[in-house]
Amino acid sequence: MDMEKGIGLVAEQLASGGRNIVFTGAGISTESGIPDFRSQGGIWDQYRPVYFDEFMRSRAARIEYWRQKTAFYRDLQKARPNQAHLAIAQLHEMGLVEAVITQNIDGLHQASGIPEESVIELHGSNRRVRCMSCGKIFSIEEAHKRIEEGDPAPECECGGYLKPDTISFGQAMPEREVEKAIELSRSADFFLVVGSTLLVHPAAAMPGYAQEAGAFLAIINLSETPFDTSCNVLIRGKAGEVLPKIAKRLETK
Ligand code: NAD
Repeated sequence: MDMEKGIGLVAEQLASGGRNIVFTGAGISTESGIPDFRSQGGIWDQYRPVYFDEFMRSRAARIEYWRQKTAFYRDLQKARPNQAHLAIAQLHEMGLVEAVITQNIDGLHQASGIPEESVIELHGSNRRVRCMSCGKIFSIEEAHKRIEEGDPAPECECGGYLKPDTISFGQAMPEREVEKAIELSRSADFFLVVGSTLLVHPAAAMPGYAQEAGAFLAIINLSETPFDTSCNVLIRGKAGEVLPKIAKRLETK
């Protein structure tokens, strides 16, 4: 489909008065300088994932995990919301986006001005750290300060292991967030996917729930997804270029 036509159809859906839900993946943040996972040069080209059971079992695995998180933290410290995050925040402000379900752990939707309660973080957040024994929350800055001071895998005063509050491979998904995301997806009239391969489950099942319930599905993504043939609109373009054009069309309505 011609890109301008796709942009027009998405704007039309957003303005049609139904329940509009946006679903984002790592691709919305690449233009903020945070690499995604699966593109060339992405995170999996540089690191091997540390599974949750390894983290809990082995100090060497915890050290490796924190080493990877330190590199990600440096990218995150520099990252600011890009034109795509800002356009979604503008649409939210205009009352045209009810909630954002995100696979991202970078907090950039909140930084763009969308209130905390309207962002559902399916994979947790890298902005905080949790003790795996007592559940106490620490700031990410505090944990990284301890790493810089020579403690490569910091622990809680209770002896528990500290871990960024994100979901690792093999770790249970946050129940409340998953339930909320399913509920929003099932009740959506319009469901917009931005920057996700739609391969990681259960997050990637959300567009399917929306479709089953009769929602109009649109995708803005640079590479293929399993929903490309069944969605209503597919825009093969950069989120930071496409979304501001959509918001602009609605400004003048
Ligand atoms: P992914 O890495 O599997 O896929 C990203 C998709 O975005 C790709 O299809 C790519 O073609 C597309 N893309 C890249 N830049 C784009 C752009 N500028 N505009 C439009 N599309 C673009 O990411 P995923 O599907 O979100 O799943 C991977 C997992 O990685 C998630 O679980 C998430 O938690 C985690 N992750 C998060 C971050 C972050 O918080 N920023 C970064 C890396 C990975």
